[in-house]
Formats: sequence, C-alpha cells, structure tokens
Amino acid sequence: MEKWQIYKKFNELDGVIAGSTTKNEEKVYSYSLAIHTGEKVDLIELNRKNFTRKFPENYRFITFLQIHSDIVIDISDFNFNSAWYRGSIEADGIVTDKKGTVLCTLTADCLALLAFDPIAEVIGAAHAGWRGTQKNIAKNLIKKMQKLGAKTENIIVALSPSIKSCCYEVGEEVAKNFTQFSEALVKTGEKKWHLDISIVNKLQLMDLNIKEENIEASTICTSCQNSDYFSYRKECGCTGRFINFIAMKK
Ligand SMILES: [Zn+2]
Repeated sequence: MEKWQIYKKFNELDGVIAGSTTKNEEKVYSYSLAIHTGEKVDLIELNRKNFTRKFPENYRFITFLQIHSDIVIDISDFNFNSAWYRGSIEADGIVTDKKGTVLCTLTADCLALLAFDPIAEVIGAAHAGWRGTQKNIAKNLIKKMQKLGAKTENIIVALSPSIKSCCYEVGEEVAKNFTQFSEALVKTGEKKWHLDISIVNKLQLMDLNIKEENIEASTICTSCQNSDYFSYRKECGCTGRFINFIAMKK
C-alpha cells in the first residue's frame, strides 16, 4: 500500500487514504484491476481481492463505467449489497460524503482526478482523457462536491500519473481543442502536437478557484514509467488498467 500512496498532500492528512496502484508481474495480468477489458473476470477478481485486503474489512469499493463524458454522479446514497458495488453506472466522475467508501478510477494513460475537502468531508474521483478534459469534467466534479458542502478554497486535488507531453503525440483534431492552453500543447511538426492533459486539468481547476498550492500533479508519465504503470499507447492498446483510489477513513 505504501508504494501506491504517492500523493504527499493526502499522506499529510489523517482523514483520507489515496493512491494509485502499480503493476505487479507476480500477479495475474500484471495486477490489472479492470473487468471490462476482456480478461478472465475470475482472475481479475483475485487481484481485486488482494487490493481490497489492503483496506479495513468494512470498507466498500466502487468503480464506474467510464465513457469519456463529463457526467459526475453523487453516490452517497447508493446501496452497497456487496463489498464491490455491482451496478454499472455510466459516468466519468463520482462523489460521496460517506466514510469508508473507496472511489476507484481505472486508467492506462488517461488522467484521474482525486479530490478531498477535509473540512466538509467530501471526496470525489474523475476520469479524464482528452475528451473528458475538453468537456471540462474537472468543473463538474468540483460542482458536484460543492453540492455536498465542499468549498473551493478547501478542496485538495491530486492528478494521477498519466501520459505526458513527452510521449503523447496528437493530431489536429485533438490539438485544436486545447489551443488556449499553450503550456500544455507543444507543436512538434506539420500537424503534430504533444499534449499534457494533466496541465490542462490543473489550469481548469485553477479557473474554478482551486488554489494552486492545493493541486498536486504527479510528475510520472505512464508511458515513460511503463514498468510500473499500464500505458495504452506504449503497449499498443494494452488492456491492463491500474486503479486510482480515494477514501475517507472511518
Ligand atoms: Zn513520457
């Protein structure tokens, strides 16, 4: 678990547990935790069992069916009839004010946003590829947290390991959506750009008055550090996913 807890800002706080899992070649499918990508589900369940055992016994886990949207759902009142929520929610973000609920985002190059308001005691998690970023899912995540009482001046956000501009080449159809974010977009050739969606999300969060010092962006590029993280691009459409998680302690 310690290896996964890469977010200093969350580690400094007592009330929250957050991190991103890493590959483990000793486990089946290198410790992929996704059940939607075609592997044998009963074998992925072994990895998930191993994952849940790192948490106290009465914690509950929830993933969601990520569809590259800007939909964020409040799951505070969901009824968990098993340790891992079995319903399928089509969304790219979830929030809760319940302690002991582990919000899980599956990624392999895409960005996860993990957010916490320690005063209001509200957490949120979102998945942002370029499409979700273009739709400004960060904004909907923060708005949904505000509905549960969170305040922008208190919200702390971690941005997960993701593919960075060193490795993320995009064409015009993607680049044209981000021209206003010059820090995140580097032109590298005729109709070729390199994009960093982590930087775009950080700027979108700051536009919402999230304090810059409350945003911790991982410097890890999933493609460069492919030995530890799944990378859809580096591994040519690999099916593995790691989990980015956040929970308030009970
Ligand atoms: Zn890289």
